[in-house]
Amino acid sequence: MDGLARLAPASGHPRPDAVPVPDDLAAFIETLGLAGEDASAERQAARLLVDAMGVAIYTTDAAGSLTYYNEAAASLWGWRPPLQEQRWCGSWRIVAPDGAEMPPDQCPMAVCLREGRAVRGAWAFAERPDGQRIPFAPFPSPLRAPDGRLVGAVNVLVDISGLKAAENRLARAEARFQTAQDIAPEGFVVLEPIRDAAGTVVDFRIDYANAAAMRLLGLRPRRGREAGGRLSLVLPMHAGGPGGVLAEFTAVLETGSVSIRERGAGDGLGARSFRSRAVRLDHGVAVSFEDITARRRVEARARFLAEHDELTGLLNASGLRRRMEPMQDRADGAAILLVTLEGHRAALGRAAAEEAVRVAATRIARRLPAGAVAARIGADDFAVLVAGCPSLAVHELSAALLRDLAVPVATPEGPVALGTRVGVAVSEGAMDPDALMRDAELALSTARQGAGDRLAIFAPAALRGAPTIRQAEADLRQALAERQIEVHYQPIIATATRRIAGFEALARWKHPSRGFVSPGEFVPLAEETGLITQLGDQVLRQACRDAAGWPDALRVTVNISPTQLREEMLPRLVADALAASGLAARRLELELSEVTFLGDERAAAHALATLRAQGVALALDDFGSGFCSLAQLRSFPVGRVKIDRNLVVGVDAQREGAAIIRAIMRLAADLGLATTAEGVNTPGEFDRLAAEGCAEAQGFLFSPAQPAAAIPSLLARFG
Ligand code: C2E
Ligand code: CA
Ligand code: CA
Repeated sequence: MDGLARLAPASGHPRPDAVPVPDDLAAFIETLGLAGEDASAERQAARLLVDAMGVAIYTTDAAGSLTYYNEAAASLWGWRPPLQEQRWCGSWRIVAPDGAEMPPDQCPMAVCLREGRAVRGAWAFAERPDGQRIPFAPFPSPLRAPDGRLVGAVNVLVDISGLKAAENRLARAEARFQTAQDIAPEGFVVLEPIRDAAGTVVDFRIDYANAAAMRLLGLRPRRGREAGGRLSLVLPMHAGGPGGVLAEFTAVLETGSVSIRERGAGDGLGARSFRSRAVRLDHGVAVSFEDITARRRVEARARFLAEHDELTGLLNASGLRRRMEPMQDRADGAAILLVTLEGHRAALGRAAAEEAVRVAATRIARRLPAGAVAARIGADDFAVLVAGCPSLAVHELSAALLRDLAVPVATPEGPVALGTRVGVAVSEGAMDPDALMRDAELALSTARQGAGDRLAIFAPAALRGAPTIRQAEADLRQALAERQIEVHYQPIIATATRRIAGFEALARWKHPSRGFVSPGEFVPLAEETGLITQLGDQVLRQACRDAAGWPDALRVTVNISPTQLREEMLPRLVADALAASGLAARRLELELSEVTFLGDERAAAHALATLRAQGVALALDDFGSGFCSLAQLRSFPVGRVKIDRNLVVGVDAQREGAAIIRAIMRLAADLGLATTAEGVNTPGEFDRLAAEGCAEAQGFLFSPAQPAAAIPSLLARFG
């Protein structure tokens, strides 16, 4: 039996014992007397019957010589061996499943005769004279005389070609399936439901997972190809709420429906996105899924590019349109500000001009209030869309943009001053995007015409919006007339002595209904409406008057906006304020923003020189918030820099922060400039600044700005 394979076809097919060969066939053949010479009618009938069965049967005597074979045996062998002369094994060659020829004495029939027992459950190939190999299963049984003597054997041969072919087909199909599954980029799993006692599906078992599924789900192979394990250990079953995978696959299982889903980040699948297809398979669910993370990323990028401008990262015109559409239904109004830049193309090469546009875009983006979006809609044109805004807010935003964009832009070819024009259209109720855009364009063309007016508001909208804007302007005018603008003072502390060196005058609007309004709100309005001159003059006069009553060593610092500085009469106003209050010029310091010192500001330079000649001190405000370099200041008569609070915050905690301060201090010392740090909030910051050599400090650590009446008590604390 060694060379014979055990007959063990793949599961799912009839087992060999199911082949209809009765175990007592030997007895049956004996009874029929098939093996004799007798040609009686009964024997002939019996032979015909056995031939008709279609199963190959032959008998031998005890020596193994053929005594009988039927038609089926002859056709299986492929020839008709003569009886008696032929030993049964010589009727064909037997080849074991491994391809080795089997010695005759090891054939099942030889074993049966030698050992006098039936042999079952093996198979081999029979090789016919024509060379064809036929797989067969032999069922040899001994034949015994009534006294128990072995007289021969009967063998039934079952042709299992069909079975083997089916087995091969199946094996090939399985191999093909396996290969397909292993090289498929799609994950494929077969799931079987796990039910609780009530029969409700509570989880799934992974019955099969292909290579891609293992990889995508992070499974480890177990017992060959089977994945094993519960699905819930791999995926969050309820992720995505009622539409979680448990509910989805249970529905597929129960209704036979096909489910196609895309799941992604946010569905509990981490950063990856999947597209899955689930169908019922037998009593489980087959799911194929692909990783669409990369595709989604490409799509998102494509969507982004379709709606955004590459240079600035702002929306482009079509992106802006899409943002406008949903706003049509809003009743709280909207505004469009069209901003156009001029001058930089003439002054710069293409690359530098583009850089200027990019910087301008950054400044616009930084100014956007909540609910506003900015778009680049032309080479030098931007649009800002503001949702639900009162006219006043839009006015302030326009002013702020004009102010931000007035700061010269650093480009590879050097700083350049941008000319900026703004056209605004406001719609108070539900908006019509096209109409609003048209209005804004009209406003912009108005703003382009005037040499001075850089801002225009579309007239009809302006008329409707006028009450608010004009109201604000009228309010401010009235405030100035009624002296509602107060001046508060924030102490400036000398680090060496920890005593007050002076005070910064900060304007406060004591509004009859709004309480104290911050200068951040009304100074831009004052600048745009030209009221800044009057406002500045009032603050200056008040500050000088108050300071004249302080101890002689204390100075007062007054903020001067760039617009004020361009006014030719500033030196005269300063002289008047000093004269009227009796304050010594050396006790007055004017703080100027760095905008003043950039670009072609000859008028400013002249004003500064005049002021300096009058004995007034000058300081540069907010140093470090822009990109003014200290070296640029050399040509201006500035005696002090105020270090912006952005550079001060956390200076004690961050190494680079301290390094920057140290560098500024060294340079300031070389240039003979005094230093004041703004926005000092903690003792740690103060100590660090003092250690780095900063002469003065100002901030909430000591005091916010307070009314003039509070000065005596401040002096008592820090005097
Ligand atoms: P600024 O000149 O940089 O004034 C400093 C601002 O920082 C003040 O705000 C002050 O209250 C605030 N501040 C002071 N210490 C601290 C601190 O420790 N932490 C923080 N977070 N803030 C601190 P304020 O009074 O709202 O003034 C805002 C800006 O308005 C001023 O900035 C100045 O540019 C302008 N401004 C104020 N008064 C006048 C004025 O009379 N004329 C002009 N042209 N501008 C003025
Ligand atoms: Ca200041
Ligand atoms: Ca400042």
